[in-house]
Amino acid sequence: MGSFGVKESRKAFEGLGGSSPDKLFGELPTPCYILDEAMLRRNGEILAGVAKRTGCRILLAQKAFSNYDLYPVISPYLDGTEASGLYEARLGAEEMPEKEVHVFCAAYREEEFEELLRYADHIVFNSPSQLDRFGFRAKKAGKSIGLRINPECSTQEGHAIYDPCAPGSRLGTTRAQWDGKMTLELTGLLDGLHFHTLCEQDSDALETTLNAVAERFGDILPRMKWLNFGGGHHITRPGYDIVRLERCIRSAQERWNLRVYLEPGEACALYAGYLAAHVLDVLQNGETKIAVLNTSAACHMPDVLEMPYRPSLYGAKEPGELPFTVRLCGPTCLAGDVIGDYSFAAPLREGDLLLFGDMAIYTMCKNNTFNGMALPGIFALRNGTKLQCVKSFGYMDFKQRLGQ
Ligand SMILES: *Cc1c(COP(=O)(O)O)cnc(C)c1O
Repeated sequence: MGSFGVKESRKAFEGLGGSSPDKLFGELPTPCYILDEAMLRRNGEILAGVAKRTGCRILLAQKAFSNYDLYPVISPYLDGTEASGLYEARLGAEEMPEKEVHVFCAAYREEEFEELLRYADHIVFNSPSQLDRFGFRAKKAGKSIGLRINPECSTQEGHAIYDPCAPGSRLGTTRAQWDGKMTLELTGLLDGLHFHTLCEQDSDALETTLNAVAERFGDILPRMKWLNFGGGHHITRPGYDIVRLERCIRSAQERWNLRVYLEPGEACALYAGYLAAHVLDVLQNGETKIAVLNTSAACHMPDVLEMPYRPSLYGAKEPGELPFTVRLCGPTCLAGDVIGDYSFAAPLREGDLLLFGDMAIYTMCKNNTFNGMALPGIFALRNGTKLQCVKSFGYMDFKQRLGQ
């Protein structure tokens, strides 16, 4: 988490196979994303290996990556999709048909629920009251029903915004809430339990979490058909302990006689996308050298500000490591639209092409047009060399969301 290490950075550009960004992407209109089909396949193979060896099922959490033009590339390796609500459930049903559609939402809406039943086959509720309100209808419609539990076990530091086990969290049912509200009738509705507590973590954190789950909900689990381990498993990152993950999956399946689901977002599309941008201006304020780019952290890399973190950048190093350190900024009027400080072998110049790594996840599906910024186009890199335009955007994409 946080700043990228040398290994991370190398991995983020492995898909380029040693070719320079100028050579590969020099002709593209920027800013634009490039989705790397070969890296999606590589991730898919790792995930499918886990599923095959353990018998678990793995879903794509669409909130991280929902570029459905690339679903045909990744879907052969997966068992289906996971959705955060109606629209993602519909997208999964439409674009990864014939596969499972799971949905979890902190609270479902009455006016959307009937339609949701058309798309989802697994519906996970967040609270006993939501289960009570919608669970009977969902069961009658033949759905597999789950409840999200909160194991009250935080395994991450520093990113409180991503910790669903923080005190006072709305996400998941604690054992105390369960004991207060779950009647026999409600418990009888359940086919499975779901927890999602990790974020970019290794399987040691999963192991710790599973112990907490066993301690708090061990008496319930033998009655369940499935247990969904949620997302946040950084399975496709180099160095991730897959052996331990598989041990966790097997031991849960054997101990409670159920099927394990995983629903990673990041891990499905890790390192499988780039964001290409150009330098528009270079300036200096006191000691600080600044480059203004035609891409924005606020609009095109929202997690850079939200998490926050500094994205990997091709050919650049930590500030001060190479002779020329520059602060890269977006062109918007937000003072904090800063991507980060990087060092380069040569001074940056107007017109230089920059390539950010690991930009397939939590970007395109989170973009906005703040300041009237254009949405970056989307290209697919097929077979390591062939570029295909997936989508381009224009003025109307900004305007149409704001009025007639
Ligand atoms: C965010 C989320 C995921 C995916 O998380 P990643 O960190 O992208 O793997 C899966 N399930 C649920 C319920 C989520 O909220």
